[in-house]
Amino acid sequence: MARTKVVIVGAGFGGLAAAKALRKTPASVVLIDRTNHHLFEPLLYQVATSVLTPGQIASPIRAIFRRQKNATVILGEVTGVDKDKKCVFFSDADRENVPIPYDYLVLATGVTQSYFGHNEYAQYAPGLKTLVDAVAVRNKVLQAFEQAEAEEDPSRHRDLLTFILVGAGPTGVEMSAALAVLVRSTLQSEFRRIDPASARVVLVDMAPRVLPTFSEDLSTAAKERLQKLGVEVRLGHSVDLIDADGIIVAGERIFSKTVIWTAGVAPSPAGKWLNVDTDRAGRVRVQPDLTVPAHPEIFVVGDTASLDQNGKPLPGVAQVALQQGRYAGKLIHSHIVGGSTPKPFKYFDKGNMAVVGKGFAVLQTGKIHLSGFSAWLAWAAVHLEFLTTSSLRVSVFVQWVWTYVTGQRGSRLIVNHHGSDKGTRSAAASLGTVAVTK
Ligand SMILES: Cc1cc2nc3c(=O)[nH]c(=O)nc-3n(C[C@H](O)[C@H](O)[C@H](O)COP(=O)(O)OP(=O)(O)OC[C@H]3O[C@@H](n4cnc5c(N)ncnc54)[C@H](O)[C@@H]3O)c2cc1C
Repeated sequence: MARTKVVIVGAGFGGLAAAKALRKTPASVVLIDRTNHHLFEPLLYQVATSVLTPGQIASPIRAIFRRQKNATVILGEVTGVDKDKKCVFFSDADRENVPIPYDYLVLATGVTQSYFGHNEYAQYAPGLKTLVDAVAVRNKVLQAFEQAEAEEDPSRHRDLLTFILVGAGPTGVEMSAALAVLVRSTLQSEFRRIDPASARVVLVDMAPRVLPTFSEDLSTAAKERLQKLGVEVRLGHSVDLIDADGIIVAGERIFSKTVIWTAGVAPSPAGKWLNVDTDRAGRVRVQPDLTVPAHPEIFVVGDTASLDQNGKPLPGVAQVALQQGRYAGKLIHSHIVGGSTPKPFKYFDKGNMAVVGKGFAVLQTGKIHLSGFSAWLAWAAVHLEFLTTSSLRVSVFVQWVWTYVTGQRGSRLIVNHHGSDKGTRSAAASLGTVAVTK
């Protein structure tokens, strides 16, 4: 008898949890992702600021499921869904729109960067959503210091050594604090012609406070900590323009060669594929059992789903995606084996955390509001616990201890293929010149 086929699209927090919840189900589970790795997004900023290497925050999906015999992993980009024929279409390196049939479908495709209608900003202000983004930001930051060291004209130092982050949510706050620590400690003794500690780190947001999803006292604590680290915090004004020279905010031009976008996200096109009702942001409105109306076989979970609880939409955080993925997997399992059906999905909020530089975090869980070193220890423990494999846990723990004690970072390599091509060409050209003049 043919096995029930469960297709899961996206191996982020939601998709991974759904697939794992189906490990004992007599079904064939097909997990499709456009990358070959599961990425631990909350630590992306640490790759962008050189603390960790890309391999410390991501694991090959195939390796995660090596022991789950009912799971097959496909590397491909899903391009659409046919609800009537019950199949998804994916493209890979040499084929387009290959159909894969399903009995149950879980869409867990997350979000992408959104520039709030200003897509032209993308070329000047990269975001932080994938490993490629994180390495690109790391290259850009480190390159700015190298250029400044080589630059004779001190007036250009100002632009090169000004780093702007647009968006003061958790990513912007964590990233600006980590950058401030990088420039004021790690890099300090390594340059001869510039003083890295003179670099400006500017955090801008139109909101009146940083970390707006946290309570006011924690926002204030985070802002004070940022200022202590030397971050200029500019709130209450949206950015008027981002271009090759920097930004304009509240009518003032801030010159910078490194602007990083940490402001907005937009959901994946799951709503368009399914042609179903979405919220204003474009996230698929799901029912309390996380299925879409009239299709009990289609689940949408995580950042790309929209569900209200206690009159408020659930936030786009890892815990929501994880719990929803697990719930969808269990519900599908109960449909297939005929067990008791779980109650409607209910999110259990374990709290919110954000780290603000070395040894300081803010933590909010229920009525508990903590800031400082104890919150940082809790932050570190929780993040280690949720890394996908024990080898990553050990590796990240060792790196954190090393960085904490010595200030040294995991990887400060500028890995820029085109840059090195150019470098090789110009090196070859100059060697040629030398040979000719000889
Ligand atoms: C920089 C950053 C920092 C964050 N920090 C925190 C934090 O501190 N705490 C917290 O709780 N949350 C944090 N989040 C949010 C958290 O990471 C997300 O809420 C969570 O990842 C959502 O899980 P998901 O499964 O919905 O999507 P994701 O984890 O984003 O996974 C989506 C997956 O779908 C794949 N995919 C997308 N489209 C396709 C397609 N067409 N075909 C095939 N595959 C596709 C992607 O490759 C990806 O693997 C952060 C996010 C970012 C970007």
